[in-house]
Amino acid sequence: MAARPADGPLEVDLLLRGCAVVVMDAQNTQIADGAIAIKGRRIQWLGRARDARAQVSAKSVIDARGTIAMPGLIDAHFHTAQQLLRGKIVALARKRTLKNPVWKNYYIPFEAMLEPEDVYLSGLLAYTNMISVGTTCFAEAGGPHPDDMGRAAMDTGIRGYVALSTMDQGDWVPPSMKMTTRQALKRNVDLVKRWRGNDRVGAWLSLRQIMVCSPALIRDMGAAAREHDVKIHTHLCEGTYEIDYALEKFGKRPAEFMQEMGVFDRRLHCAHSVMLSPEEMDLYVKHRASACHCATNNYHIGPMRLLEMWRRGVDVGLGTDGAASWGPLDLFQAAHIARVGQSALFGTPWHNRTLTSGEEMLAIATRGGARALWGSPTRSARSRPARRPTSCSSTASSPTRRRCTTRCSSRPTPRSGAT
Ligand SMILES: [Zn+2]
Repeated sequence: MAARPADGPLEVDLLLRGCAVVVMDAQNTQIADGAIAIKGRRIQWLGRARDARAQVSAKSVIDARGTIAMPGLIDAHFHTAQQLLRGKIVALARKRTLKNPVWKNYYIPFEAMLEPEDVYLSGLLAYTNMISVGTTCFAEAGGPHPDDMGRAAMDTGIRGYVALSTMDQGDWVPPSMKMTTRQALKRNVDLVKRWRGNDRVGAWLSLRQIMVCSPALIRDMGAAAREHDVKIHTHLCEGTYEIDYALEKFGKRPAEFMQEMGVFDRRLHCAHSVMLSPEEMDLYVKHRASACHCATNNYHIGPMRLLEMWRRGVDVGLGTDGAASWGPLDLFQAAHIARVGQSALFGTPWHNRTLTSGEEMLAIATRGGARALWGSPTRSARSRPARRPTSCSSTASSPTRRRCTTRCSSRPTPRSGAT
């Protein structure tokens, strides 16, 4: 909170007044009748609404009574290009047993058919949906035509990192998705360079999965991440088949193999990270690789140890895994499922009914996601898009009575029982 200048009230562009402010700080600060003052793209002051009159002079004031303002949610693992598959995999599963792994048999063949305009339209649909449920930033897992994802992100107002689906091995990989090792590296680095300097959208490097990326590519991508100080988005520890593959081929479990390749550090972002051995969990803690828990999917795979990761200081956030997944793009729902899942796995067996809370899950969905994307404030800021107000203002009384600024997203208050 900025102090009021001695010579008069703080001059700002916009004041949201009367909302309940949920700060999501370490103290879990909540202000029932609060106010938020914004100048340019930054929050300059927040406090009680009755104090705002004396402390702030705003060009524009929004009566935000009946709404909740909180930091925007961060979807830390998302597939833009799978938006038009929404509901199809679930529908297919009702008719027949799905071929596993789903990403190999359905998602990648689908992505291979997409044209740039398909991905742009997928982006428009996905990002507006995400904004409508309180998500203000995303990390794309890696798909086709990432520049068109970025174009859609710019047009909708969401922030995020786009990435290219990157595979240089696998006989079954469609030709349009498969690259040589050299092409894969160049296309990734060129993408990062093209989006560097944009204040809302950036690009990460990507390795789709260890089964479709050669050791040479993994090593080179790690070197590129260090050279350009940018993160690599990958899927890691997402199935028994992947653990078997790593053990059979390299004699190591997936996270151990990535560490041997020299890429398992704060620049590696590992979606899923399920079924970690105790030694692999220690690697996350020691080397600060970030992670993402996709609650709608992960309990199909195994007992993802989200709370252990979070409480041991791993930079872990929540993700939806995209619309083709088993749930919606609503991170409030993902947080709720995560709370129930963690409680069922690690609380119920010991009759611990207070293992975690909705507040802790929302902290992971906001602060955890931010740490997963950007690390702690002391770490490199070079690859960050500029900070902006990311609060979402949601209506407490009625989903139809939404008020928010152009850079805020809104969502109805979670129903009773949700996080
Ligand atoms: Zn994924």
